[in-house]
Amino acid sequence: MKKITSDWHIHTEFSCDQACMTMEDLVNEQAQNGITDFGVSDHIHTIIQEDDIRRSRKAYDEILEKYPSLKGRFHFGAEVSVMSEWEVEKINKGEYDEVPIYGLRQICPIVDARPTLAIDDEFRQKYGIEYVVTGVHWPLYMRRDKKGAISEYFRQYLYGAAHPQTDILAHFLWWNACEKEVPSNPFSDFSDISEQMRGELECALKENDTAFELNLYGVVYAYPPAYIDEYLGWCKQMQDRGIALAVGSDCHRAHILGAYEKAEILFDKYGIDVDKFWKL
Ligand SMILES: [Zn+2]
Ligand SMILES: [Zn+2]
Repeated sequence: MKKITSDWHIHTEFSCDQACMTMEDLVNEQAQNGITDFGVSDHIHTIIQEDDIRRSRKAYDEILEKYPSLKGRFHFGAEVSVMSEWEVEKINKGEYDEVPIYGLRQICPIVDARPTLAIDDEFRQKYGIEYVVTGVHWPLYMRRDKKGAISEYFRQYLYGAAHPQTDILAHFLWWNACEKEVPSNPFSDFSDISEQMRGELECALKENDTAFELNLYGVVYAYPPAYIDEYLGWCKQMQDRGIALAVGSDCHRAHILGAYEKAEILFDKYGIDVDKFWKL
């Protein structure tokens, strides 16, 4: 069985959520895992997280100085969210009361809010962000039911896949269980994602040279085996059609040791070629 040797979606203590790994543990444990090419990708939803990215970059630079052999193998990235233009503009102007860690989502007056990403070339250059993982993390003011969720998320996936800043589209069909308005996971039946939708996404990925993420903790390890059967079967087809697949553990834990063994068995089972995985 082939070993996974890359991972592009890893959080550290500098992410605004529960993520808690230190940069030191990250690089030491990846050496033990046999992961040779990887990156740190802490969260940035809006300008509110600029300081998180600054601190993540500082810790990254210190680690590279301490372990120079990581140069060219350990990279600096970020995970951005699809946000609504309305809220990003408001937050940029400082128009909020409480610090909006996850945006101003609840009170947006706009139906079908226009999506955006909170980073641009200037921001990327400022912090030396080498690659961007784009995630859909919540609905932007959609109709709060299963059909509404699927079409709203899909709109965001296409937007994220086609965005010039995106290198990797994160965790397709991950669902945030905290999303109160739609209590059960709207993606619990993979066949609800029609062939037409999958085809459209494949086109967007291919035309924009965007990699599709095999997200371990959010998707591959989170859904039941029958679901993953269909999901990874489709991923294998995408790989055969020339779409790059990128591994993203999406580790928010204190330790990443042993994160890949289960995935190696699954990828082998579905004929997914580990040697063709996306690398920076
Ligand atoms: Zn994410
Ligand atoms: Zn993540």
